[in-house]
Amino acid sequence: MRHPLQLTSDPEVLSAFRPPPSALLTDSFGRRHNNLRISVTDRCNLRCTYCMPEDVTFLERSELLTFEEIAQFVRVAASLGVNKVRLTGGEPLMRKGLHKLVQMLVPIPGITDIGLTTNGLLLAEQAAELFDAGLRRLNVSLDTLDPGRFRELSRRDGLDRVLAGLDAAKKVGFGPIKVNAVAIRGFAEHDVVPLARYCRENGFELRFIEYMPIGAELWERNKVFFAQEILDLIGRDVCSLNPTKSDPTAPAVDYEYSDGNGRVGVIASVSRPFCEQCNRLRLTADGKVRNCLFALNEADAKSLLRSGNSPDTALAEMIRRSVWEKWAGHDFNTAQFVKPNRTMHSIGG
Ligand code: SAM
Ligand code: SF4
Repeated sequence: MRHPLQLTSDPEVLSAFRPPPSALLTDSFGRRHNNLRISVTDRCNLRCTYCMPEDVTFLERSELLTFEEIAQFVRVAASLGVNKVRLTGGEPLMRKGLHKLVQMLVPIPGITDIGLTTNGLLLAEQAAELFDAGLRRLNVSLDTLDPGRFRELSRRDGLDRVLAGLDAAKKVGFGPIKVNAVAIRGFAEHDVVPLARYCRENGFELRFIEYMPIGAELWERNKVFFAQEILDLIGRDVCSLNPTKSDPTAPAVDYEYSDGNGRVGVIASVSRPFCEQCNRLRLTADGKVRNCLFALNEADAKSLLRSGNSPDTALAEMIRRSVWEKWAGHDFNTAQFVKPNRTMHSIGG
């Protein structure tokens, strides 16, 4: 989607324009960026069909940013106004000692909010150490409560472990705990209502994400189970919903059950794209800065971090330039859409 003010999306032309000298991260459409998603690994213990191929070559250990390098990047980003950080992957809990990274990020001046998105398989073992390290916000991905559909979607078993992980996280004191489900036609019809009931019973906030074209399999718009269909199903079979105040910069639109017993959110990336409010940038596990999930270009932060010189000034310039060059939005509702050459697991969802 091209912004009305954007005459070109050609990165070479865009890069000829330099960001104005400002301490804050603003793009050429005036969107302030304060939200950084960090992938800590591309490895995963599931193989969700909508996210990654079954056969995949993972990065070598030496290609991953170290925790020190990630923390240095976050310090620089925080000096430019980033205050929210989310750790993701691949499966972030497969990165050994992840709680140590949390401990390193918590004291960084300016960082006020640290979250983790996980598939939950390793959560029961790690919940306590993550909580003790200072992590409070937790999103656990769970698309179904049916073991057969879990296996079909993730090509692995593990539903029991995810449920045990959610249970452990709740006992340890995490809150809010959000449950993320990808809404795919043919699956979601069966899973929306049981997931909504389960989350209501357990005090989890349920979020549905419309299926996006960022996995390995062929995506078509008619494979998406749309936000409105989800809301209609829940309103009919679980409890009626009322719109509630949502963070205008967050992708989710939130609803409250009319009996006051919980909330549901929908991330309508396909049916109601929210690029105009986007405030996110991404750091991949191999140290590339991406200004959009669907970006076709990346900036190489790892080379700067490993250059041997003191890289903070150059890193700040790289981050500002990457944000400045951001396009108006993705094009996946149009024929012009070009899929990035990485799938979700190697970008960081
Ligand atoms: N492994 C962790 C997990 O599954 O929560 C973190 C990484 S995963 C890539 C982050 C989020 O992206 C998950 O909630 C996942 O469901 C979502 N996701 C992956 N592929 C997607 C797609 N094609 N469309 C929408 N969401 C997707
Ligand atoms: Fe792994 Fe998460 Fe992708 Fe599923 S969505 S394959 S759990 S990275």
